[in-house]
Amino acid sequence: MQTLNDTELVAEIVNAIDNNEFILHYQPQFNLTTSTFDSVEALIRWQHPRRGLLMPVDFINFVENDNLIVKIGEWVLKTACTQIKAWQNKGFTPIRVAVNVSGQQFKQETFVDFVINTLHKINLDPSYLELELSENIIINDDDELIIQMIYQLNNMGILIALDDFGTGHSSVNHLKKIPVNRIKIDKKYIKNIHNNRNDAAIVKSLIILAERLNLQILAEGVETFMQLQSLLSQQCKEIQGYYFSKPLPAEEVEKLLKQTRVGC
Ligand code: C2E
Ligand code: CA
Ligand code: CA
Repeated sequence: MQTLNDTELVAEIVNAIDNNEFILHYQPQFNLTTSTFDSVEALIRWQHPRRGLLMPVDFINFVENDNLIVKIGEWVLKTACTQIKAWQNKGFTPIRVAVNVSGQQFKQETFVDFVINTLHKINLDPSYLELELSENIIINDDDELIIQMIYQLNNMGILIALDDFGTGHSSVNHLKKIPVNRIKIDKKYIKNIHNNRNDAAIVKSLIILAERLNLQILAEGVETFMQLQSLLSQQCKEIQGYYFSKPLPAEEVEKLLKQTRVGC
């Protein structure tokens, strides 16, 4: 398959939005205390007409600093909230959806209004939406405005998660600057947690930190039973990763929701 250059790719992405070629997969986030999941993370995929299913790594970086990421982000938020509401309407136990938000979206002064209007139109309670922010989101000049926006969203009842925690240069500092409900330990600390004492110590410290600050904490990228065992021994309560489930199409999540309890 021929490789596209950046300009061609961007042109294709514009069409992709109009042609409904983007889809969302949802990865369950398991609660180890209740052995079930009460939230999913929405992850975008591109059902490309010729190139098959493309992952974010194939296209997100090309639009990260472009207005296109804003359009894509709006589509993701709308689609994810609509799906959560549809599951509620079908009578399943309500679950929350976590949506990744890029820095570019927060540069739009209209972002908060967009979120409020979307929830309003869909009639979704804000507590069923979580926004995942990466750490690079608030190191720019317009920090203050972004921080205010995050407060506004959080005050409405939307949950705020810090994604890839531990990969940025000022992870802990963010906990002072913005309201955070949950931190997501980056998968690089989980990969060797079962056989690397340093990684295990870092994860343990983060779990204690979260406990003291009264935050939820979730370990990302859990792939093996050994990793799970290490996390359980450290009283980690929330887990996301291939060991439990890959990101799934909506129909597959629905099958899980039909089971009253999802065993782990
Ligand atoms: P992320 O937000 O850190 O998402 C987690 C990534 O880890 C996902 O990759 C997921 O499929 C993958 N993953 C989950 N469990 C495991 C595991 O056990 N092992 C390993 N090795 N990987 C696991 P994905 O879907 O390819 O997404 C990559 C990145 O693209 C995301 O990283 C996020 O930064 C970005 N992204 C995805 N969807 C969106 C979106 O709707 N908007 C924005 N702005 N970014 C998105
Ligand atoms: Ca994420
Ligand atoms: Ca992550």
